[in-house]
Amino acid sequence: MLLQIAIGDAYGAPFEFVNRSLLAENDLRGYRSHPRHGHPPGHYTDDTQMSLAIAEVLVERTPFTRENLADKFVAAFHRDPREGYARGFHAFLMQTRTGAALLANIRPNSKKSGAAMRAAPLGVLHDAADVTALATLQARLTHDTKEGIDSAVAAALVSHYFLHERGPRVDVGKYLSEHVPGPWQTPWNGEVSGEGMDCVHAAVTAILAHDTLSGILRACVAFGGDVDTVAAIAMGGASHARDITSDLPAVLVTGLENGPFGRDYIQALDAKLLALR
Ligand SMILES: [Mg+2]
Repeated sequence: MLLQIAIGDAYGAPFEFVNRSLLAENDLRGYRSHPRHGHPPGHYTDDTQMSLAIAEVLVERTPFTRENLADKFVAAFHRDPREGYARGFHAFLMQTRTGAALLANIRPNSKKSGAAMRAAPLGVLHDAADVTALATLQARLTHDTKEGIDSAVAAALVSHYFLHERGPRVDVGKYLSEHVPGPWQTPWNGEVSGEGMDCVHAAVTAILAHDTLSGILRACVAFGGDVDTVAAIAMGGASHARDITSDLPAVLVTGLENGPFGRDYIQALDAKLLALR
């Protein structure tokens, strides 16, 4: 799951809010750099880094509290600082050295996708009520709004639905609607904003429209807009679905960054995360 999140994120990042003409290069033949940001090919962004943080809290079996999560978000950023965070949050993290400082100083009033993009690892939990509770808890740290929370719960439940085989792919929107209000049963159309609900909506649409991970990834990027987040959510959700073929091109695995918190680290953590299932 974490590997696919990182691949979706790193593949999608160079297409984030680019001119639509560049979307013609969405061919899965390798990683690109962003035309404006100088994003290095194969490098992931905040979506993956914060998903790793949540996975680590689960795997290390430290209590899933606001304090431990805040400590982990801050530590994950400072051990491996990177661009790709929203500008304001990046500046905030640069001057925030402890979880306590994060909790004391953040204004968690955003409706954007920050809480949804990191929620998929919570899907490993056995009980949908636990998935919902923990997705809500982590969302409220930074996105304590109805939309911020609902989008995070939905993203976590997509991964839960497939990991725990709660039903066929075609019914994932219906399942979401039973747990969290949202437009899950009508297809998303057009460019995706940075709003959490829109990103999860687009990710669900891509999953419903394709039965291969490569098809889903291309569809996420083809929407245009905040596509690294759409791709991270969709890949995190769909990575272990029984009726979705795992066919991401090898070049996207080998080309993924492999520094201290890159591919090898991600795969090792992934194995421990999935063992919790
Ligand atoms: Mg991102």
